[in-house]
Parts: sequence; structure tokens; C-alpha cells
Amino acid sequence: MDAAASLADIGARMAAAKARFGPPADSVQLVAVSKTVPADAIAPYLAAGQRVFGENRVQEAKDKWPELRREYPDVQVHLIGPLQTNKVREAVALFDVIETVDRDKLAAALGEEMAASGRHLTCFVQVNIGGEAQKSGISPEETVDFVARCRNEFKLEIVGLMCIPPDGQPAGPYFAHLATLGRAAGVANLSMGMSGDFETAIGMGATHVRVGSALFGARPPLEQPA
Ligand SMILES: *Cc1c(COP(=O)(O)O)cnc(C)c1O
Repeated sequence: MDAAASLADIGARMAAAKARFGPPADSVQLVAVSKTVPADAIAPYLAAGQRVFGENRVQEAKDKWPELRREYPDVQVHLIGPLQTNKVREAVALFDVIETVDRDKLAAALGEEMAASGRHLTCFVQVNIGGEAQKSGISPEETVDFVARCRNEFKLEIVGLMCIPPDGQPAGPYFAHLATLGRAAGVANLSMGMSGDFETAIGMGATHVRVGSALFGARPPLEQPA
């Protein structure tokens, strides 16, 4: 895919969704999900002006981003995949935003590492919005209390909520539920919507949409999200 044309296409679709649903024109950020995309295929997107990216694995981000960052120091890389506590140190050093804070043990480890390193990353709490056994995320019922604990006890800067709705069902009601939880928890941002449903998510108040395959082309089949 041509990077500039692909970014322009997604940008136009985001603008059309924003115009249709009404939030202020610049309030939705495109997180370009570059997981499985090699560094040399990411470079044209950087050259075309994209600066916010999402990766789901610490090791893969470590292999790709330090070098890309040398050329583009203003890039922002979001961790959008599950984080093990034994990788917290590397994650805090590598990423700018952690979107997947979902349990006390992880929140505590992140708080400690940020205090120790002096790198204070902004964070999102991941919500298991469909209550699926196999998915990460705090349950919807526990979200408001968990956000408060992250802020007060673990001293994390929680700026929003993130979710991945169940496959094979209309995503709209799940996005609406996340928006309700976000208001209850007192967070300003909602990271929701992927290639197949980012326009719906914008309609429900997404501030961040995470778009991979619609931007970079299809991933190898084994690398699809669980
Ligand atoms: C892979 C992934 C995306 C992007 O998925 P696409 O359907 O390719 O746009 C978004 N969010 C998360 C958490 C992912 O793992």
C-alpha cells in the first residue's frame, strides 16, 4: 500500500464520521497499529507524517522503535497488548502510552517503575467490555473503583479507557457502554474502534481509534488479534 494514500483514505473516513456525528474536528487521534509490520514498511508512514503508533508486544517494539525514533524523536508509541509484570521495566523505557492497565499487580508495578525511572507515561485502563473469559481487561463493574485505585494508590495518570469488543456482534452497544463507564470514572479519553468499526466508535465518542490492517494491509493470518 502507498503510505500517504492509505493515511489520506483513513483520515478522510475519520473526518466523514466526525462530521456525521459531531465531535470537534480534531478530537480523534489515529493510532496506527504497526504490529507485525517491519520497520522499513513503517518508515513511509512516518515520512508521510503519521506520528502515533500502536504495538502489542514489548519485544517487537524493542526490535523496531528505538531506531525509528532516532530519526523521528516526536513519535508516540502506544502499548496496546497485554503486559506481564516482568516486562514493566522495558515497557516503561520503550513506550509513551500504556493502554492496557487492567489489574492491581500491574498498576502497582507500573507506578513503582515510573517513580524509579522518572518516566511518567500516560495510561489507559483496559476494560473487558464483553465480559469474555479469554480477553484481558478489568470487568465493567470494577472499572470505576479500579481507575480510582490506579490514580490514588498507584499514582498512575489514567487518561482514558480502552476496549476490544467481542467478535461477530455489533460493536456499537459495547462502545456506548465504554463511554458511559468513562464518564462515571472521570476520564477524558476513549480508545475504541479498529479497522472494521472505527467509524462506529467515532460516533460513540472515541478519542483514539486503533487502525492496523486498513492502513498497512492484511497481517499474516497467525498474527490476528485473539
Ligand atoms: C491488532 C489490534 C488492532 C488493530 O486491528 P485491525 O483490525 O488490523 O485494525 C487494534 N487494537 C488492538 C488491541 C490490536 O491488537
